[in-house]
Amino acid sequence: VDKGSISLQQQRKSLPVYRLRKRLLEEIRRNSTLVIIGETGSGKTTQIPQLLLPSGIAGTSGCIGITQPRRVAAVSVARRVAQEQGVETGKLVGYCVRFEDVTSSQTRIKYLTDGMMVREAMTDEILSDYSVVILDEAHERSVQTDVLLGVVRRAQNLRKLKNLLPLKLLVMSATMDVDKFTKYFQAPAVYLEGRQHPVKIYHAVKTQEDYAFSALVTAFQIHRDNPANEDILVFLTGQEEIEAAVVSARQVAKQLDGQGYPPLKVFPLYSALPTHQQLEAFKPSPPGMRKLVLSTNVAETSVTIGGIRHVIDTGVVKARTHHPTTGLDVLRVEKVSKAQAWQRTGRAGREAAGKCYRIYTKEDFERMMEMPVPEIQRCSLAGVALQLLAIGVDITTFDFMDKPPKEAVDVAVTCLEKLGAVKGSPPQLTTLGRTMSLFPLDPRFTKVILASVEHHCLEEALTVVALLSGESVFTDPPAKRQQAYVARSRFASPEGDHVTLLNVFRAYTNMKQKKVWCHENFLHHRNLEYATEVRQQLAALAERANLEKASCGTNTEQLRKALLEGLYDNLAELQRDQTYVTVSSKQPVAIHPSSTLHSSKPPLILFTEVVATGRCYLRGLSVIESSWLNEKGLNIGKCD
Ligand code: ADP
Ligand code: MG
Repeated sequence: VDKGSISLQQQRKSLPVYRLRKRLLEEIRRNSTLVIIGETGSGKTTQIPQLLLPSGIAGTSGCIGITQPRRVAAVSVARRVAQEQGVETGKLVGYCVRFEDVTSSQTRIKYLTDGMMVREAMTDEILSDYSVVILDEAHERSVQTDVLLGVVRRAQNLRKLKNLLPLKLLVMSATMDVDKFTKYFQAPAVYLEGRQHPVKIYHAVKTQEDYAFSALVTAFQIHRDNPANEDILVFLTGQEEIEAAVVSARQVAKQLDGQGYPPLKVFPLYSALPTHQQLEAFKPSPPGMRKLVLSTNVAETSVTIGGIRHVIDTGVVKARTHHPTTGLDVLRVEKVSKAQAWQRTGRAGREAAGKCYRIYTKEDFERMMEMPVPEIQRCSLAGVALQLLAIGVDITTFDFMDKPPKEAVDVAVTCLEKLGAVKGSPPQLTTLGRTMSLFPLDPRFTKVILASVEHHCLEEALTVVALLSGESVFTDPPAKRQQAYVARSRFASPEGDHVTLLNVFRAYTNMKQKKVWCHENFLHHRNLEYATEVRQQLAALAERANLEKASCGTNTEQLRKALLEGLYDNLAELQRDQTYVTVSSKQPVAIHPSSTLHSSKPPLILFTEVVATGRCYLRGLSVIESSWLNEKGLNIGKCD
């Protein structure tokens, strides 16, 4: 069947959710909380809200809120549903993600990230805008979904106590491990029959050194041997890796085009990609042309891409993990669990029989964990603790579905105490803590912004925090590495990467031909655009919090002092043998090659993040004077 010829409405009606709608609505009507399990692509996310609206279950004015762990999913699904309803996004159907609110007073179906709904609960603990809350992708167990499981249950109970309109809760998941959910909510589960075609699995014969390279080689073998209407989906880990793979794949595709191969169109898919580009990957490819989508984990269960017959699973995912010794969250490329590997495999069999190529051996697969560890048990909890306190809940007694380790909770509370956000036992928010909770940032970065007032550099702090909230603004074209390096050195500051970022942003803001200028200087135009938007949002929050506007101009030492106020735990010290160790835990670390401080050896540096690739690399550095620590009453332990 021609992919384009099936009309939107016909397609909707063929989905399992639509076919089972009578029974489903009955169950939803009957239970205040219901767990819904269904294969990816069965229509849970897009159809259930559309069925609820005319059914009366959502009342006549209340909103149906559907949470997603990732912004890319919230945006693309909202657009799809608006299209199905024949309305403009932002009217009846809208979305709300961090730094972007596309809703209006007419909005009744609202897709939002789980983090945004936690934010809403902070100012409205009974979630009074909603008649139905749908916690989607619950199997992913993101920190914010786990927080919401408790927060929404609490809102349900509060409404009951206050005799208000009841809040309906639907928990949706793609996997079959439902016991936890049904026990926690004491709610029944319904299973949607999935439609799944057989998928033939191929494993690598031996472990691959470079999984991204092997994945591309495999993609082009598939391209050579299969009809052009069979699209390919590759799972990679993040923006940098995907962008690099896109460049290589496009080059190869162009060469092959001349050799009689069918045309191949390559699409990236990851959260930081601008909306219109994300949506490109979902468009059906025209007859005779093949689509190759290089995606992060988002395509595992959150979004469905049509036409896929071949899945290439690299077996890895980028996950946020709490580093046991440094106490920091690190983004690390990790092996997926078996459950995730099966989900990825399933993506090849949505519309017809398919094939899945695993870039790892059968033995590697056998060694994988059954299920991923919930994020709440592996991340730092300072931000979560602050959010819960703002809702009026003490994290030390909060009824999590899976309790985070006690040490992690203690560390979080201590961190907030040190930042001046809480005091007492049980912990209470201070005035500063209340202000901090207004910012959708890690508390340490919010502290940088708040502290920048006394260092007279709010403007600069907003800029740097905005830039740190997004993906890198520097491009790294493999073929032009030297030129990029030269271009970058024009902005480089001996004070470190934060002041370098500031230099980039200041120059960018003054440019008229921004796009051309960015291209010439090897800068990411869209990441700078994104940072500009984020900065505007942060500036608006700063204004609401009555923070005094000031700029330190060329006196950027002030900015580094403000950074130190929030990131005082992120210090590393030069040793006699010219290596670095972290001040807090004496962990051996090295300066990341991308840093402007890579070839200098300042005695004391502040870092933004740790990247663990074999050894620990520090990224986003600033030079710090040890005298500043004394001013703050901080002491660094001398080690030998
Ligand atoms: P589930 O939540 O159960 O995984 P969805 O509601 O996300 O399922 O998707 C149902 C179907 O709708 C998919 O199989 C796909 O055919 C279609 N669909 C969803 N999103 C899009 C989109 N952005 N573009 C095109 N088709 C889509
Ligand atoms: Mg879904």
